[in-house]
Formats: sequence, structure tokens, C-alpha cells
Amino acid sequence: MIYDVAVVGAGPAGLAASLTAARHGAKVLLLEKQWRTGRRLAVTGGGRGNVGNLHLDVNFYNIEARPLLEAAADRLQADALTSFLRSVGVLVFADEEGRLYPYTRQAQTVVRSMEDMLEEWQVTLELETELVDFQRQSHGPFRLSTMRGERLARTLVLAVGGTARPTLGGDATAFKLLQKKGYSLRPPKPALVSLVTEKTLAKADGVRVIAEGTLRDRQGKIVKTSAGEYQITKNGLTGIAAMQLGRYVSGDRGPYELTLDFAPHMSADEVAKWLRHVIALQPTRDGRFILTSLLPQKLAVLLASGKKNAGTFADVAVPSLVQAVKETKLSVLGTNDWEQAQVMSGGVTSEMLDTKTLESQIDEGLFMCGEMLDVDGETGGYNLHWAFMSGRTAGCEAAKKALSRRAD
Ligand SMILES: Cc1cc2nc3c(=O)[nH]c(=O)nc-3n(C[C@H](O)[C@H](O)[C@H](O)COP(=O)(O)OP(=O)(O)OC[C@H]3O[C@@H](n4cnc5c(N)ncnc54)[C@H](O)[C@@H]3O)c2cc1C
Repeated sequence: MIYDVAVVGAGPAGLAASLTAARHGAKVLLLEKQWRTGRRLAVTGGGRGNVGNLHLDVNFYNIEARPLLEAAADRLQADALTSFLRSVGVLVFADEEGRLYPYTRQAQTVVRSMEDMLEEWQVTLELETELVDFQRQSHGPFRLSTMRGERLARTLVLAVGGTARPTLGGDATAFKLLQKKGYSLRPPKPALVSLVTEKTLAKADGVRVIAEGTLRDRQGKIVKTSAGEYQITKNGLTGIAAMQLGRYVSGDRGPYELTLDFAPHMSADEVAKWLRHVIALQPTRDGRFILTSLLPQKLAVLLASGKKNAGTFADVAVPSLVQAVKETKLSVLGTNDWEQAQVMSGGVTSEMLDTKTLESQIDEGLFMCGEMLDVDGETGGYNLHWAFMSGRTAGCEAAKKALSRRAD
């Protein structure tokens, strides 16, 4: 049997591509190497699934992604995403920062709903079926080699994701295959990944704190600032704000230094004034607790002890404490590995594709979408937003081409 469209990878991009192609009347085959669909999608947003963002802007993505994002600007609008999700039975709501979540606040709802729609629109789903190679003879269908034999399809959509989270399916096999076939890739590196730093804060392991971090390269130039929640770990920092910095650390401008401002909404003078106020209120209190009105206790005690402020509030040296609050400096030693990374930065470069249709410039009838392309966004739903909407484009274009080939 010859399918109209074969889609490889049942993550958000592949699911969106399959459902869109089926809705355009194509006979669709969906291949997934794992035993179930959407394993990564199911754990997104801490299980709540931050599936998109109302405020989509190219500045929230890597610079190399511009050609693809600009060509897709209309199709990436939040309305287009929410109406696509509604069409597959997923109702979303936006939080106060514009982040979109399923109404149930469960990513699993999205997976289940899309799986149900596969059945409804008669997409053939083959699980535990890995694509190992593909060929297309002139004007004939694509021949897909899988672990379970050969499959034929008029058009092919690759939606194989990236190399992040190997335990959830991330791997580089498809990229090696594409490189052999002449596709150019920007080398994959972990993005949205926690930082490994010197262990100065390790004793405050587990503490979550709002801070502004400024990352500087070895010349002292600011590489990136990131404000929001940082979580201290035994070997560094995680949390949304720390992970936003991950992609910059793996560049070649290091070693990097991170300056943390634990009171980003107060000036140094305001912090000093506040500390003098609490000293006046409780002059005989144990000096180790001087920062507890500003910071979580474990961190407050660590920073104050680091400044050797033994004795009482009245004994502490305010300027050194202000410096600890506003300018704690950490050497950044690197990032955690692929298993800790949420997203891959790098992938198939935009010049390999028609940026409007996502069709390959090398293999006519081959389309690509999702994270395997050189598009990676900040936290806030930008990665799933791209996965769904690029999947939708690839599925639509693949179906149109396949249906026109049917008539040949
Ligand atoms: C812990 C965590 C939390 C996250 N939270 C968010 C969030 O809240 N918001 C957000 O926007 N993004 C989030 N992300 C990122 C998001 O999950 C990805 O951007 C998104 O899943 C990419 O979709 P995709 O379909 O391109 O790839 P994937 O979801 O990786 O899907 C690719 C699929 O292809 C399959 N596959 C690969 N190779 C083959 C092959 N050769 N043959 C057959 N099948 C194959 C894989 O098994 C996989 O199922 C998070 C990621 C993680 C790990």
C-alpha cells in the first residue's frame, strides 16, 4: 500500500502534521520509535504543558531561526495556535504573562486528545517503529526503511525532535542520516539547561529565589541577563531564569561569570537602608539572620555567614552584606548534560528548506518540522508553539503535494 503522507516522530510536531494532513484528505501513516506518542510533550511545563504564548516574537528565539519564523509569521499567531488546538479538542487558557496552558493544566490532556483524533481521522499509527533510512526514486514514492520492514509514501514529513532528553526519545540518529544525504546542520548543543557553577551556594541547595543574573564572558562583556526564578542545586543553578542562560554558556567566550542580584527590585542604597532599619529594630538578634527579611532563610544565613558576621545585628558590616545581596559572583563551569536539557539548540538549517512550505531543497516531497530544525525558543511556551505550528504547515503542504501526485 502507498500512503499519501508518512510522518516520522509522534511528538507535538509529528502529531500536528499527521492530523493536519489527514484533515486535508490524505491517507496518513505515523511512525514512532517509542512505545507511545508524545512522551516529551507529556512532561512539559512541569506536567502542566505550557503549549504556547500569546506574545510571540522572533526575539524569543535564536537568531538563526529568523528566516523560518519570519516566513511563518502569520501562521505563528496565537489565534492560529489556539484555533488549531481547539480543532483537535484542546481548550487553552492564558496566564497573566500570556503563557498558554491546556484548560485542565495537564499536558497529558493534549497528548490524549491528539491520540484520539488520530483514530478519529484514521491515521495509521505504528509504535516501536524506527525509521532508519529513506530513498526516493525519480517520481516514485518514498521508500522508508524501518526496523519492521519497508513502507511507501508519496510524501514524507520528518518530525524527529532533537537530541535533548535521551530517555524521552532524544537522539542523533536521524541527524547523522540527514548529514550523509547532504543536509547542513548547526551543531546541536543543549539549550534550556541548568548551569554548573562553583559550589559557593551549595549549602542552600533546594532554595528557590527571585533574582536577576548577569552573565559575563572572559572579557567582562555582558552576554545575557536573565531575571526570574533561580533554584540553587548542589552543583549550580536551575529554574527558568538559570536555564535561559544555558545556551550562552556553551559558546566559546568563556570562562563565564554570573553575578546574581537577589533584590532586583531594590537599589543598593535601599537594601542598605532596609538593613539599618532592621538593625535598629532588633540590635541584639543573632547576626546570621540579618538577611532573613529579604531572602529565604537558608540562603540568607549562608550569605551572612560567608561574610563572617558573627555576633549580633548591631555588629554586622552593612556594605559587605549589601554586596552579597546585590552582587554575588559565581564562576560558571558549564552546563548539565543532554539528559537535563529541555531543548536542543542547532539542527537542520533554514537554507535547506523552502521557508514557507518547509519542503526540503534537496528532496522534493520531503518536509521537516519541530525541534529538528534550527529553531529554539526561550521558556514560556515558545518551543511547543513552534512544534505545533510548523507541524501543521508541514502536514498541510505534504498533503497537498501528495494529493496532487495521486492524480499523476
Ligand atoms: C522537561 C521538559 C519540559 C518542557 N517544557 C516545555 C514547555 O512547558 N513549553 C514548551 O514550549 N516546551 C517545553 N519543552 C520543550 C518541548 O518538549 C519540545 O520543544 C517539543 O517536544 C519538540 O517537539 P517535536 O515534536 O519537534 O520533538 P519531540 O517531542 O522530541 O518528538 C519527536 C519524536 O520523534 C521520535 N523519533 C525520533 N527519531 C525517530 C525515528 N528515527 N523514527 C521514529 N520516531 C523517531 C521520538 O521518539 C519522539 O517521540 C520541554 C521539554 C522538556 C524535556
